[in-house]
Amino acid sequence: MKALDMPSCNAESEEAVRLLQEAVRINTVSKVGDEHSLARLLAARLEQDGISYEIHALDDQRANLIARLRSGRPGPCVVLSGHMDTVPVGSVPWRLGALDAVIEDGNMYGRGTVDMKSGLLALTYAFLRFARRPADSWSGELILAATSTEETGSEGAKAMVEQQLLPAFDAMIIGEPTDCRLVVAHKGALWTRVCSCGKASHSSMPDRGINAIDKLFPFYQRLSEVDMESRPHELLSPSTLSVTLINGGKQANVIPDRCELTIDMRTLPDQSHAGLTGQMKALGERIMAEDDTTALEFETLLDVPAVSTDPQASIVSIANKVLIEQGLDQTEAKPRGAQYFTDASVLQALGKNIIVLGPGKPGLAHQVNEHVSIADYIASIDIYEKILDDYMK
Ligand SMILES: [Zn+2]
Repeated sequence: MKALDMPSCNAESEEAVRLLQEAVRINTVSKVGDEHSLARLLAARLEQDGISYEIHALDDQRANLIARLRSGRPGPCVVLSGHMDTVPVGSVPWRLGALDAVIEDGNMYGRGTVDMKSGLLALTYAFLRFARRPADSWSGELILAATSTEETGSEGAKAMVEQQLLPAFDAMIIGEPTDCRLVVAHKGALWTRVCSCGKASHSSMPDRGINAIDKLFPFYQRLSEVDMESRPHELLSPSTLSVTLINGGKQANVIPDRCELTIDMRTLPDQSHAGLTGQMKALGERIMAEDDTTALEFETLLDVPAVSTDPQASIVSIANKVLIEQGLDQTEAKPRGAQYFTDASVLQALGKNIIVLGPGKPGLAHQVNEHVSIADYIASIDIYEKILDDYMK
């Protein structure tokens, strides 16, 4: 794989590395860590340049941060977005401390270095560069949106949409790790819990109870009746349906009165989540109609639709051109799809033309010894600035 051009070392990049270290040293594990401290760290850096911001608390642990720059000239509204939370450090020991942000051989180690404090900080530095520009050198409005609890269901992004904290936008860059490649589409996720409700009894007298495990089994067996067919997507693999959790019964001598099964569907842009939920419920209805002792209940645990930006959109062609200028060849710079979902699933309610592009190898995200190349982190500040420079000229 061809490497990006090495960025030059200067005072800004040295400061950006120090601020990333400080960010990694703050534990922001989703829901239990301290996102407020990270929001305040970003806010302090914005304040240093006289940029106003808003911090919106979700609760004592969780917060969203939004900052806005207006050029004063009419033009597009662009949102730069990244999440502040991380997945847990895990139980396997790290070679270098998971929250120490140690730099070794040009890489910074720590939870969140890849996913996605480096992307969030690189977006922040691109934002700071625009704040320093003369107003007549760009047009439109640039917004920095640091979100809470993406890893546990994009709750910060949902709050931004529900509370109308963000305006409608013309384009958005999400700095999730893509190894500085251009992602324009990703799958959606629909997680459904199906609960079978039975009646407990002593297992020596099973006829006195209703076995919730037995009653859930036909539903599991007939899941293939849910039609997952959809139009193929040029950048995404076909949609999938997997049973990922099953939970039922309490002890060996009790007929279980409850059994739960969780289904994880990964969907394509033209699949309706409401339609898929409807199909699952209809299958449940058919099974209950055939056996009146079966009682099935459905609960949606996560509903984040797929994202697909038109590969002809100007933000895509500009990002492609910038990556080629940065040293990638045509194949490496071309738009691609990703299997994971991002806050774009939620934030697309406010606009189209979303690209996902950020430093860090996606395969290192959520792993022990997660680390990001400092050179890629610094290079991505230039990449973001050049994309914005062209799109907002
Ligand atoms: Zn992420």
